[in-house]
Amino acid sequence: MACYPSDGTTAHELSNNADLAMYRAKSSASQTICYYDATMDEAVRKRRELSSALRMALQNGELELHYQVQTSIQSGEVRGYEALLRWTHPQLGRISPDVFIPIAEENGMIIELGEWVLRTACEEAVRWDTPLRVAVNISAVQLMQVELPRMIHETLMETGLPASRLEIELTETAIFEDRERSMHVLRQIKALGVGVALDDFGTGYSSLEVLRSFPFDKIKLDRFFMHEIETSHTAKAMVRSVLALGKNLAIPVLAEGVETHSQLLILAQEGFDEMQGYLLGRPSRVIQPAQLPDLEEAGEALETSAKKTA
Ligand code: C2E
Ligand code: CA
Ligand code: CA
Repeated sequence: MACYPSDGTTAHELSNNADLAMYRAKSSASQTICYYDATMDEAVRKRRELSSALRMALQNGELELHYQVQTSIQSGEVRGYEALLRWTHPQLGRISPDVFIPIAEENGMIIELGEWVLRTACEEAVRWDTPLRVAVNISAVQLMQVELPRMIHETLMETGLPASRLEIELTETAIFEDRERSMHVLRQIKALGVGVALDDFGTGYSSLEVLRSFPFDKIKLDRFFMHEIETSHTAKAMVRSVLALGKNLAIPVLAEGVETHSQLLILAQEGFDEMQGYLLGRPSRVIQPAQLPDLEEAGEALETSAKKTA
């Protein structure tokens, strides 16, 4: 329900606001009648506006891919880049993927966006000077599509990117939506020669079963652990067990969200394989060669900061 004149002065405004209240009524189990409430319903309105704006974003050329470097910790070599989608709305400016990806998953746009991301990443990677790997995020909704392996195969053929240079990243949550089906899809993708990485590991179900049932090419430890690793013994113990698991299954482990020298030093000591994070480079339009900071220097920096705190 929306009431004149507090909830609107025109018929259009009133019916629009009543509509928003109806959405809330439908989604709540206990309430059958909801009054329009500006604070509660504004979020829904914004979401609906973004949802329709997103439909135009692709054809209006508002999307682009940024790339973030992934580096070997032992050798300092660049291993590849993760493609991250960026949306610049003409009026609202930059909108975070954490906001628009869930909207795209909800309104179905993710299929079209996902195809665009994959194609663009392959086209751009083919033109890089060095034939490094490109990692592309795949949403749970895409993983439910039985046509996904064929779409990936066609994109590789059409863009000329060798399958071995492509890696897809997906989360455990995505796999758990429908385990049977996603395992089937993943096996077909793997058979193409494309790498498969398990993203955000350690925050979702973190089931050993997932690792046992599919031969992942990489485990990406969620960036949450980087915050904790310096201070929390529990976090460190968990990180160690993930590393041991990776070693036993012969799956390399990448640490996400590495921001400081001291984190890097801990990663090197613990035996991580790869890293990604602001310390080495923020996602950007241009492919940047990353220079791994000197570990000795990092060690000294750590000592100095330890002395300061002492
Ligand atoms: P993600 O796949 O875990 O991507 C890593 C996110 O961490 C990126 O955020 C990246 O900018 C950020 N990050 C990298 N290094 C650091 C660091 O040192 N510190 C901190 N605090 N953050 C760091 P971004 O680009 O905002 O993307 C957020 C999420 O949106 C991604 O998380 C991914 O789940 C999703 N996403 C982004 N692009 C795509 C896409 O093309 N397709 C799909 N399906 N999802 C995407
Ligand atoms: Ca990712
Ligand atoms: Ca991640």
